[in-house]
Amino acid sequence: MPERIPFACDRYLTYAELAAELHAIAAAYPHLATVHSAGTSYEGRDILAVTITNEQTGAPEEKPAIYCDGNIHAGEVAPSMILLHAADYLTQRFGRDKEVDHLLNTRTFYLLPRVNPDGAEKYLTTPHLLRSSVRPYPDESVSRMPGLHPVDIDGDGRILTMRVRDDRRGAWKKSHRDPRAMIPRGPDEWEGPFYHLYREGELRNTEGEPFEERPTQWGLDINRNFPSNWHPEIEGGGPYPTSEPEVRAIVEFLVNHPNIGALQAFHTHGGFYYRNPYQYPEEEMDAEDLQATRQIARTGEKVTGYTDEKSDNCCTLTEWAYEHHGILGYTTEVWDRLTRAGVDRMEYRESVDPEAREEMEIKLLRWNDRRVGGRAFHDWREFEHPQLGSVELGGWDPKLSVQNPPEELLHQECYKNTRWIMKHAAALPRLHIEDVQVTQEGADVYRIAARVGNAGYLPTSASNKARSLGVVEPDRVKLQIPDGVEMLYGDSEKEIDYLHGYISGHDPRDTATGESCVQAEWVVRAREGDVLTVRATSDRGGRHSEDVCIANCGDDR
Ligand SMILES: [Zn+2]
Repeated sequence: MPERIPFACDRYLTYAELAAELHAIAAAYPHLATVHSAGTSYEGRDILAVTITNEQTGAPEEKPAIYCDGNIHAGEVAPSMILLHAADYLTQRFGRDKEVDHLLNTRTFYLLPRVNPDGAEKYLTTPHLLRSSVRPYPDESVSRMPGLHPVDIDGDGRILTMRVRDDRRGAWKKSHRDPRAMIPRGPDEWEGPFYHLYREGELRNTEGEPFEERPTQWGLDINRNFPSNWHPEIEGGGPYPTSEPEVRAIVEFLVNHPNIGALQAFHTHGGFYYRNPYQYPEEEMDAEDLQATRQIARTGEKVTGYTDEKSDNCCTLTEWAYEHHGILGYTTEVWDRLTRAGVDRMEYRESVDPEAREEMEIKLLRWNDRRVGGRAFHDWREFEHPQLGSVELGGWDPKLSVQNPPEELLHQECYKNTRWIMKHAAALPRLHIEDVQVTQEGADVYRIAARVGNAGYLPTSASNKARSLGVVEPDRVKLQIPDGVEMLYGDSEKEIDYLHGYISGHDPRDTATGESCVQAEWVVRAREGDVLTVRATSDRGGRHSEDVCIANCGDDR
């Protein structure tokens, strides 16, 4: 077996470095991995996709598949590293890990680690912070609007926070317990010092305070550009659905791979899964699909510690994939520094109580000092701002602390999310020819009976939604006969409809209609030694075939 030292997942890779790693995996494991371009970004970079399966047990498109992408949001670079790690893990462990062998023998993984390569490159190689694409939106005039624009004003390579003293109107104060921590000024507090907290930047077209903090000229949010419930007022959603080349590439990839029955869109941060349904109550979702999405999330929770949350975002990949294609998927928000520091996420989001905020900030700073060598927080330091005068720059590192794990903690996120992808892929349907019987009915007349079943958790349509949308073809079973064999009874190809997964057996009332296995029969006129082939085909459940021999073929079939 070829050896390759897997990427250690201890730093964030630029586009060129990531592309080199993906090509190296394909070169080391040609029977397991191939790399191709799924499309071209706004600036002309290839959106790379790696396909992973054991080609010796079937071509990628003949197996049920999971699709995973990451980094659609420019700054969410940890997901790229997670998907590179997954590609490494699956190829490296094949042949020495029963679970990996089972998955690669029976399923296909389509991994697109960096679907927004332009945005990620800007994020990783400049001080800029941006939501997604580098295409200016709505146009470049945003950068001339009066107000405070984010700029690396001291040229240290980072856009941090500015602490500006104002004892009259300042809304923040320093903690007495740790002067690095900034806590809200209480309603009864009149004795300073008090401060404003602004993003590091420069004033444009404005005369001092008060001023507004301005967004960047990169106003697109391409995870609001998918063709599901899209409307023109969606913030950052673009001029029309799939207007952005990265989104169009993803949509076309899913449409052109009808074997995809599961999906993961990796994001940061928060440590939870957004799941379907998005914009309606879950009572309105198909009951079995809801059960599946929640039960699969439970298997993920065991390996990641993340819990599932119903989302209400619109026009996202995961919403579109389910509502238009019946593909159950998750928006997995990896990494949560709050949990690591022992801070409650909901309380941090909502509480403005000064004492509670102080306690949380102190816990976070303790985590920074003890667990990550002080690299997540930059100590305040004085700076003579050309427009605002004396200010201090510092605060939490927005890139490698808040939005992504510090490098020394990246590997943990990579490992547990690779496990999560594997758990999700294991739930895919799996069409299987369970048994073929040949019975002699006359001198040269034989009855062939094949039992075809679904050995997977999900139905062969991957969801009930997909059936109601009519986006998957019914499963088929076919008897292929060589020249000289005559079909006396039965259509050579039969529709067998969709087969239930074993999830249907969990319903104690057993209200499910349909079957998890079916029998197909043919009668043929054939001679001893003729070899016929039974082929079962499902869009999302995979393909399976078995040869059938008419008597005395040298085995006990
Ligand atoms: Zn995101």
